[in-house]
Amino acid sequence: MTPFWGPDFDELAETDPEIASVVLGELDRLRGGLQLVASENLTSPAVLAALGSTLTNKYAEGYPGRRYYGGCAQVDRAEQLGIDRARELFGAEHANLQPHSGASANLAAYAALVQPGDTVLAMELPHGGHLTHGSRVNFSGRWFDTVGYRVRRDTELIDYDEVRDLARAHRPKMIICGATAYPRLIDFARFREIADEVGAYLMVDAAHFIGLVAGRAIPSPVPYADVVCATTHKVLRGPRGGMILCRGSLAERIDKAVFPFTQGGPLMHAIAAKAVALREAASPRFRAYASQVVQNAQALAAALAAEGMRPVSGGTDTHLALLDLRAVGVTGRDAEARCEAAGITLNKNAIPYDPEKPMVASGIRVGTPSVTTQGMREPEMRRIGGLIARAVRTDPGRPGGTETLARLASEVAELVAAYPAYPRG
Ligand SMILES: *Cc1c(COP(=O)(O)O)cnc(C)c1O
Repeated sequence: MTPFWGPDFDELAETDPEIASVVLGELDRLRGGLQLVASENLTSPAVLAALGSTLTNKYAEGYPGRRYYGGCAQVDRAEQLGIDRARELFGAEHANLQPHSGASANLAAYAALVQPGDTVLAMELPHGGHLTHGSRVNFSGRWFDTVGYRVRRDTELIDYDEVRDLARAHRPKMIICGATAYPRLIDFARFREIADEVGAYLMVDAAHFIGLVAGRAIPSPVPYADVVCATTHKVLRGPRGGMILCRGSLAERIDKAVFPFTQGGPLMHAIAAKAVALREAASPRFRAYASQVVQNAQALAAALAAEGMRPVSGGTDTHLALLDLRAVGVTGRDAEARCEAAGITLNKNAIPYDPEKPMVASGIRVGTPSVTTQGMREPEMRRIGGLIARAVRTDPGRPGGTETLARLASEVAELVAAYPAYPRG
């Protein structure tokens, strides 16, 4: 048996003390504070070991058994294991694990299904959509004629009647659902019905919630979508990267759209790490984690609501909540900065029909994947809700404000010390 040659920190510290100090500093940051960014998580040591392996060296353009380079027998095994695990876990006819990121997966899906100039119907960014769903600063808005749907003003839920009306009026070639800041379940069957009525492809961008699908905590889009795009690093807890699931009839078009159309050589170390994450995601432990992620998000949203922060749409069915801070009289931008000073990392976020500019925003977004991975449960969510509320209400410009935020940061440090990220030995 060949001994594993793994990442050696001493080697890094000797070769590049500056980057070594960044790596240690980041570990301290993770261990010392609360990570509530909804798109982040803490990967397992097994995933990190695959990521830090010599598989990063291999050129393997093509797909298992059909490569442009020799020496691919080992990496072929890794990619095939990953593909088989993804197909099995999600009940998908085909899987492609090569997209370098969620945005790259989306680019490939556009390339496979539509032509530049075609009409695409997707959720507007300020209502929870993603940059790749038609933003003017992204290829999607520049190369495609995108039409946006919104959430209703009264319920803050997707307005399916508007989606249907827009689809009938604009006859899109592709409809996209799946969002970055939408806390509720999406009615995939309803989207399928609308897509069928106008002859459009249905692409589900499951970047955020594919991990909840893997853990059976929410319904799967796979039976309804032509193509499902996802990331592997959000709730799914794998390495940073993308993934595409699709019907068998689209397999060849998707594979060719990823390579050679939009990408070159695959990141074999990342693909191996994706395979590890998919194996972990098939375990009963992962199911328990996924359902706890949702319960934690619900507990956190309720705790923040009790503090006067209104959960958009009234609550959450997923791993994230969006809070409207207008009643508290603090902008999203200020809330984010105050929480950061208190050791709580979260992000400002536009709320539907937000009167503020995006860089200011009236809301914040919180997510529970990381804290759930660390083992926290509902009682900790209630404590975190109180800590966020005190931080948000503390103006560092007022006398004593900075001291209060520093005191909160030490309370946060004390809480997380009981649930350490990457516990030592
Ligand atoms: C995160 C996200 C993406 C992009 O993923 P990256 O890996 O950051 O490129 C795409 N779509 C949605 C809905 C997302 O939430």
